Amino acid sequence: MPGRSRRLAGLVQSDIRAMTRACEAAGGINLGQGICDLPTPPLVRDGAIRAIQERKSTYSYAEGIAPLREKIALKLARDNGFEADPVSEIVVTTGSAAAFACALHALLDPGDGLLILEPYYGYHLNAALLAGIEPRFLTLEAPDFALDEEALGAAVDAGTRALVLCTPSNPSGKMFTRAELEAVERVAVERDLLVITDEIYEYIRYDGREHISPATIGKLRERTVSIMGLSKTFSITGWRLGYAVAPPEMARAMTLVHDLFYICAPTPLQHAAAAGFDAPPSFFTDMAAEYAQKRALLCDTLDAVGLRAIRPQGAYYVLADVSSLEAASAKDAAMRLLEETGVASVPGSAFYSGDAGESLVRFCYAKELDELEEACRRLRAWRA
Ligand code: GLN
Repeated sequence: MPGRSRRLAGLVQSDIRAMTRACEAAGGINLGQGICDLPTPPLVRDGAIRAIQERKSTYSYAEGIAPLREKIALKLARDNGFEADPVSEIVVTTGSAAAFACALHALLDPGDGLLILEPYYGYHLNAALLAGIEPRFLTLEAPDFALDEEALGAAVDAGTRALVLCTPSNPSGKMFTRAELEAVERVAVERDLLVITDEIYEYIRYDGREHISPATIGKLRERTVSIMGLSKTFSITGWRLGYAVAPPEMARAMTLVHDLFYICAPTPLQHAAAAGFDAPPSFFTDMAAEYAQKRALLCDTLDAVGLRAIRPQGAYYVLADVSSLEAASAKDAAMRLLEETGVASVPGSAFYSGDAGESLVRFCYAKELDELEEACRRLRAWRA
């Protein structure tokens, strides 16, 4: 009988999605999956409506519409501090997950080793497994998740061809410092590694911290695929729009894969996103300030109810220590929290290969303030 492919062996629905279903069944408040159900900025929303009315609804080039790639090139120079040729070095993708999948399939082979820093975003791991790529892990220790050059070098073995760098990180919020990225550069150059970044949370950062794109460090640009996206910046997670920036040969290979897997990213939405990049600088700083307020609210609440928060430096997730629940596993802890408080989280085990995540859960605060306040009231009432 036809069945599942061998490639899928061991892969199941992610805990991130499983908790959304459990939350909906329980009628809870979903601080699990990073859904980001905030209003879409009118500039972007109206751009999509206009593009559909103007019938900009057919296929685009596999690498995306030219005006969006030009806006991205300007944005890279303005906000990331590096240049990219919009014609040959930028690929607009069906979400940043597609950019990541294209990088794996276009630039690596089955059996190649990929070094993943944990805690990791589980989709990085599972997308790699699906592509037949073999993961290696380097655990970064809470609360500062510092990256040590010696440990990094030791984690790279003869079969390791690439490294994933998620900054600001999902789930830890870690933002790699210049010194850490310089260490990555030394190791990557010496060991001839491809670097694949995930910078989707680049505009969400706290305490005046600077986002440093790995491609700006030393010689990394020539061996880096920089992956960024629009989902989080414009609260359009369901639009599926991301992009990758890479040297021409890599970008061409990724475009080929993007065409075969997806044809192109949604065309009218690409037009809308191009308009979004015209937002004034205050749009980006106001967004970060709003998230800072939400970070404080949720972290203070978690601390107050005995679920110690590991305060993130960026992104919109917080890992919380649930040891005080004395649950048998992180999954049990997350389920108990959902049952007892009506607030959903994601078990920490979703972000670790070993058992370091069993005493953690991840909460997401990309929520309207009133909903987040209600979630915090429920948590406080639970421990009152
Ligand atoms: N990036 C979001 C998260 O980590 C959503 C991912 C997803 O739904 N797979 O929760």
